[in-house]
Amino acid sequence: MKRLLWMILPLILMVQAAFAETTVGTFRLGVDVSELLSQESSGVEYYDDDGERADALAVLAASGVSHVRLRVWNDPFDELGRGYGAGNINADRAAEISARAARLGMKTLIDFHYSDFWADPSRQISPRAWMGMSVSRKEIALAEYTKEALRAILDAGGDVEMVQVGNETNTGMAGEYDLDNMARLIAAGCQAVREIAAECGREIRVCVHFTDIQDYGYLAKLLRILDNRKAAYDTVGISYYPYWHGTLENLRGVIENIRKDFGRDVFVAETAWPFTLEDGDGYGNVIGYDPGLYPVSPEGQAQAFEEVCRATLAGGGIGVFYWGGIWTPVGPDPAKNRSVWETQGSGWATRFASAYDPEHVGNGDGGCAWDNQAMFDFGGHPLPVLETVRVIAEELCGKD
Ligand code: CA
Repeated sequence: MKRLLWMILPLILMVQAAFAETTVGTFRLGVDVSELLSQESSGVEYYDDDGERADALAVLAASGVSHVRLRVWNDPFDELGRGYGAGNINADRAAEISARAARLGMKTLIDFHYSDFWADPSRQISPRAWMGMSVSRKEIALAEYTKEALRAILDAGGDVEMVQVGNETNTGMAGEYDLDNMARLIAAGCQAVREIAAECGREIRVCVHFTDIQDYGYLAKLLRILDNRKAAYDTVGISYYPYWHGTLENLRGVIENIRKDFGRDVFVAETAWPFTLEDGDGYGNVIGYDPGLYPVSPEGQAQAFEEVCRATLAGGGIGVFYWGGIWTPVGPDPAKNRSVWETQGSGWATRFASAYDPEHVGNGDGGCAWDNQAMFDFGGHPLPVLETVRVIAEELCGKD
């Protein structure tokens, strides 16, 4: 037995060293905080573990969160300057949040949607300013826009460590639904990020982002199309919501496959789990049913997050980002909330976005559909999932 141990000891040490290399000091624990400024101007309050009023970003930083994730919409305002909602977040507002996060020691993942509002597999609408452009002209416009936006964020003091060129671009990007055209635009965006990194002397990860990972064949096809266009990305972000995107075993396998088949690093760009089925603001939630898998409770949310992190680590992934972590209710009464959502952009969409995306926005009377999956309860107090972040951060990242 002793002899066997001596024989396999070098192997154990090798495995441990490989594990350490991919994890210690490099595993990113992030939270998407794109709604922050709209939440604050809506009068939403957050509290720390001691029950004291606190900056939500400070609470996240104290919990071991290493990165904030910020989506960037080109121009989420109508011709009269009225915001589309969901944080009304353009490059200037992202710069403000990114700089605040940097002062608290957190890095930033910028998530370019290349749209004036939500982009996901069901919609990849071109920014108004690029509508009618040929793909060749769009490549130039997208590259210029990417550089200008990143310069603004870096100049403001943001600590940008990762940039996503597109958001859940499974079906297209910026109004281009032909996948080869999409790949041309993504390649232009990747090159623009690399130029900014060189210009600023920074190391910035160049990421692409896809969802629906339960279908690895399609995901691999998308990555091959990007490789055909020589898109210079080094990292693949994937969305993984346990109630939509298959098992943890599959998540782990997809991460391993991307690393093996394409030689890129992988991270979970979005995940979440409900802590309750209650609705905090009178606007129905996306997950208003019990999905099974984990308990719908504060403890179940913490467990789900921990298991996603462990599966990601086991597959050799480099991080996990929680989505909608600070998107708490602006108040309990929808009749009062409506004007706040509309004037501050703290709901998912305002009626001012209707003309841009009539199909999804409808009359635009939208509140928060994610308040039961935030990392703070309806009163703004931290949930156990943040304690889980702290535990994982201490365990893996060597943080205090
Ligand atoms: Ca709600």
